[in-house]
Amino acid sequence: MTKTPPRGGRFPASLNEAASKASQPQATLRPQRTLNEAARDQRLLAVPTGLGLDSATVRQRMVERLRADGARCEPALQAMASVSRHLFVDTALATQAYEDTSLPIGLGQTISKPSVVARMIEWLYLGDGSRQRGHLGRVMEIGTGCGYQAAVLAQLSSHVLSIERLKPLHELAARHLRAQHVPRTQLFYGDGMLGYAPRAPYDSIIAAAGGDDIPQAWLDQLAVGGRLVAPATAADGQGQVLVVVDRFPDGLRRTLGEVVQFVPLKSGIK
Ligand code: SAH
Repeated sequence: MTKTPPRGGRFPASLNEAASKASQPQATLRPQRTLNEAARDQRLLAVPTGLGLDSATVRQRMVERLRADGARCEPALQAMASVSRHLFVDTALATQAYEDTSLPIGLGQTISKPSVVARMIEWLYLGDGSRQRGHLGRVMEIGTGCGYQAAVLAQLSSHVLSIERLKPLHELAARHLRAQHVPRTQLFYGDGMLGYAPRAPYDSIIAAAGGDDIPQAWLDQLAVGGRLVAPATAADGQGQVLVVVDRFPDGLRRTLGEVVQFVPLKSGIK
């Protein structure tokens, strides 16, 4: 991600501006660290007590750091300032919850880095390029994980449907969202590669796992005026890139964002 975007909570003036920035060489977004790194950190940590992680100041500080590092999507940042990220991770990792880092959530999966959550939502907010959207509308998320991003999206949407293929994580996320009274959110245990046709179309589609290409089902389920943001294998077959798809009345337009590194999108359920 570029380290020198304009400050002051502004969006790029247009999608083209964002896309041309995105096409410049940039650092790789790494929402998920390797399990080895995460497990090493877990061993170093003791269970936190009395650290004041519930305080709004802790979340606000995280958001200020994200802003200082170039995050510009104020709605996303404000939503992140309202969601207690430490309640989505194991207590042994809670002290790290407000660092800009991914953390293990079990079954080899991780909670995405806050800066990546903010950037993905920023792409969704840019809308079709000619205007900034005020609201994400009806959202489909693929890859619920522990439910953190779904809880952030819930603050910005009229409805969130989030799909997870690993049952223990689907159940973990359901417990988190219930405990925190997250509104307007429905979790679905299933293969997100198929999307969820009964609730389609969606104004916003966001994926936290990347496959070889964007599944056709997601494109079919994107509303006119809607936008999809997902990682997919880069054209040269090396690594992943963010793919942004807008649906216009006369068809789809695809834009490429920055280089990223998400966990793989896998088919089937477990
Ligand atoms: N949204 C999470 C990130 C979870 S990591 C957050 O807030 O941090 C990505 C998740 O995508 C993993 O839990 C993985 O199991 C899930 N996933 C991978 N392929 C999937 C598929 N086909 N359908 C649904 N979920 C999938």
